[in-house]
Amino acid sequence: MVYSSRVLALLLALCIALITSLFLSLFQSVGPTALLVAFLIGFSVSYLLIFIVLEFLIFREINKIYKLIGKLKKKELSSIDKQKSGVLNPLKTINEEIYSFADLKQKEIDELKKLEAFRKEFIADVSHELKTPIFAAQGFVHTLLDGAVNDKTVRTKFLKKAAKSLDGLDVLVQDLLTLSHIETGQIKMHFETIDLYKLTEEVFEQFEEEAEKKDVKLRIDGPPHKVLVYADWQRISQVMTNLISNAIKHSYEDSEVIVIFDIVKKNVITSVKDFGEGIPSEHITRIFERFYRVDKSRSREKGGTGLGLAIVKHILEGHGTKAEVESTPGKGSVFSFKLPRVKPEKTDHPDSFESIKH
Ligand code: ADP
Repeated sequence: MVYSSRVLALLLALCIALITSLFLSLFQSVGPTALLVAFLIGFSVSYLLIFIVLEFLIFREINKIYKLIGKLKKKELSSIDKQKSGVLNPLKTINEEIYSFADLKQKEIDELKKLEAFRKEFIADVSHELKTPIFAAQGFVHTLLDGAVNDKTVRTKFLKKAAKSLDGLDVLVQDLLTLSHIETGQIKMHFETIDLYKLTEEVFEQFEEEAEKKDVKLRIDGPPHKVLVYADWQRISQVMTNLISNAIKHSYEDSEVIVIFDIVKKNVITSVKDFGEGIPSEHITRIFERFYRVDKSRSREKGGTGLGLAIVKHILEGHGTKAEVESTPGKGSVFSFKLPRVKPEKTDHPDSFESIKH
């Protein structure tokens, strides 16, 4: 850098000395010796001045770089002024390069810190969730071993309770695996034309018994017809299973769970509507978080893992869409999501149900 400033000063000083000598040569009274002296003085003075000014500028820029490095060391990245690169000043460019690099690294560090915090929180949540059914089952088994096993009624009751806790544990592990597979991208979406009407009927079949116990009627709004969308059958089936299961769980007795299909432009909006306890507005934004429950103990009692809606959210994200919720406490909730509609003529064999995956 010092070398290039010397060359630059030399060149500029030469130019200035030459111009001065040329100018003086216009006067007849100035002889060749005086011209040579003027050239030498002009060259020396300008060289010195230009060199000092350049060195000063370089010194100033280097100082700035030192300050920048000092701030980086102290991690005061936010207080650093971002400078515009000067084409003529390579030091400013270096300065800016250092800033961008440090900025990038800081962002990476922040992201890693966030992931680490998230990982810790997740492990704490999972441990807590696993602990609950394990402790419950453990308690029942130990009570039986401590003598309760001799009483037939107590024995059956406790064994049933232990089995229920272990079943809950199984569902929780399954949900955790599903969530982890979706998040790590191990599950690839398999998009094709599917019939939502048929899919909903199949999901309803799974819940017939549970709905009957609460006197909840399961129905699809409107006459039977194909509702064709472009989606992954298995994953959307999981979404509908979770939404319908929640709707039944939170419905009031002797009510209905209705699935509604609305065709809006190029999409089908599927809504799952229940007439139940509803969700207070302050919880709505959080119910899609892992393990978030409005009423923790009641959710567990009803066999909830707290992961159902997190799975729904991830699957719908994989379809480029999201779930919307409308709920009125004491009246009920509607969970809906949009999927791209497929017109019947776009399927290979429009009139044949076989052409549709089910
Ligand atoms: P859970 O396994 O506890 O049902 P979810 O992730 O499926 O977990 O739901 C999170 C919480 O959202 C539930 O604990 C419940 O409080 C609330 N919730 C979900 N669906 C409904 C619904 N249809 N009506 C009322 N509350 C609901």
